Amino acid sequence: MTKHIFITGGVVSSLGKGITAASLAMLLKHRGYRVAMQKMDPYINVDPGTMSPYQHGEVYVTDDGAETDLDLGHYERFAGVSCSRASNYTTGRIYSNVIGRERKGGYLGGTVQVIPHITDEIKRAVSSLDGPDTDIIITEIGGTAGDIESLPFLEAIRQFKHEAGAGNAIFIHLTLVPYIKAAGEMKTKPSQQSVGILRNIGIVPDMLVCRTEKPMHDEHFSKLSLFCNVAKELVIEERDVKNSIYEVPLELARQEVDTKVLQQLQLPPKELKIDGWKDMVERVIAHEKSAVSIAVVGKYISLRDAYKSIYEALDHAGIAHDAKVNIMMVEAEELEKSGNYDLLKNADGILVPGGFGDRGIPGKLKAIKYARENNVPFLGICLGMQCAVIEFARNVLGYTDANSTEFDEESSHPVIDLMLSQKAVTQKGGTMRLGAYPCVLQKGTRAAEAYNEVNISERHRHRYEFNNNFREALENEGLKIVGTSPDGKLVEIVENVRHPWFIACQFHPEFKSRPLEPHPLFDNFIGAALGEKK
Ligand code: GLN
Repeated sequence: MTKHIFITGGVVSSLGKGITAASLAMLLKHRGYRVAMQKMDPYINVDPGTMSPYQHGEVYVTDDGAETDLDLGHYERFAGVSCSRASNYTTGRIYSNVIGRERKGGYLGGTVQVIPHITDEIKRAVSSLDGPDTDIIITEIGGTAGDIESLPFLEAIRQFKHEAGAGNAIFIHLTLVPYIKAAGEMKTKPSQQSVGILRNIGIVPDMLVCRTEKPMHDEHFSKLSLFCNVAKELVIEERDVKNSIYEVPLELARQEVDTKVLQQLQLPPKELKIDGWKDMVERVIAHEKSAVSIAVVGKYISLRDAYKSIYEALDHAGIAHDAKVNIMMVEAEELEKSGNYDLLKNADGILVPGGFGDRGIPGKLKAIKYARENNVPFLGICLGMQCAVIEFARNVLGYTDANSTEFDEESSHPVIDLMLSQKAVTQKGGTMRLGAYPCVLQKGTRAAEAYNEVNISERHRHRYEFNNNFREALENEGLKIVGTSPDGKLVEIVENVRHPWFIACQFHPEFKSRPLEPHPLFDNFIGAALGEKK
């Protein structure tokens, strides 16, 4: 029987529920359990695909083409679990399933209500990951205890645990134990009140994980245990880590969170094998032989979460090279406004990430021109690739009005154009080219060298693509098509062969990078940036 762990949050948002859930999953996996993960998001959008990154950060894409919450990126990076459509449900998706069923006559004669119909649908979503190949499912409930929006989810998991029976499901509540400077004290009251809110709706946490800035003392553990109804050894301190978020699993292991959880679930502890992870964290902390500066030129720069997977992938590549990656976040519009290239002058490499809409495009083109003309290693991703093609067409081929039809439908050189399959699409949600697609690389190219193979699969999220009418003209001047869809029709990677390291891809390599397995393109890009430095 599959066991369930539910993780809720209290007091404030942004406590790192996703990282805590992912860290626990990583430990359970390294004890030999098969773990699946999912996130419930209480907002009404059917998926985050229609939201600006300013709302909830980046949209993470799974192999099966689901546009999901960025916490799924943590799940995949920490625990190596593969997420799918079943790994992210929103209120919107739950309601649209119920309403769809109602319209088909599925509840004929019945009044459709939040309880039991919405809660039943949520329970179905939780069970959708159950199966003979899964030992433990971790479900993170988005939002904060006390939010109106998350109530149906909390009621559903209350029922779920009750029906699953003792030892088959547990609740972990993540709270904040703040340090109040003026009083010189740490306060447990917010956590007590948050647990009180859960108790009001029938949930008693089995474990309390307390985010803190400073170490907690015995009195805090005792107080929280007594007033929150949680055994003292199940009150866990999760202090801010110093160097890397990848320290969190090690910190939880030190407090035996994983074995305590397994005990609650009536499962044997098995042996924990995390030497590789420990080595990796040690390399981050101690073995920084060199540093490299990478300019990321984007339009959502002010929000760190907007390019989460990109920053993580850069870090992973840095770890592999024993180098600290200093990320220079360059706002494309500022680069556009400044009359020079000063914002880029200390960059050992330049990366232009994905995006939508024309704001910031001139700044991105300017960064690409600088990288191309000054032999600075360049990695373009999705919109970054499209911009690299536009820049080349304008400044090398002299097509001054070259553009993507996303920005100028009248351009006489539409080097990036809407995919044929997209021309009739009117609905915005979930209709892009999404998820994993195969790509074939040309032998002897930098890209093939980086991957060390020619058949690859990468995740996509875009509507526009390279316009094949311009292939020959661009290739003649050195912008080579080095990776395409297996039928040769869709351009997936371009490479500037007159430049030391200039690669741009239509897909999103960042989603597949892992701390112990950096993505080949990022790995090679950082290598080139370090080489340039020498
Ligand atoms: N806006 C571009 C497109 O739709 C690029 C998308 C992206 O960068 N993810 O094709």
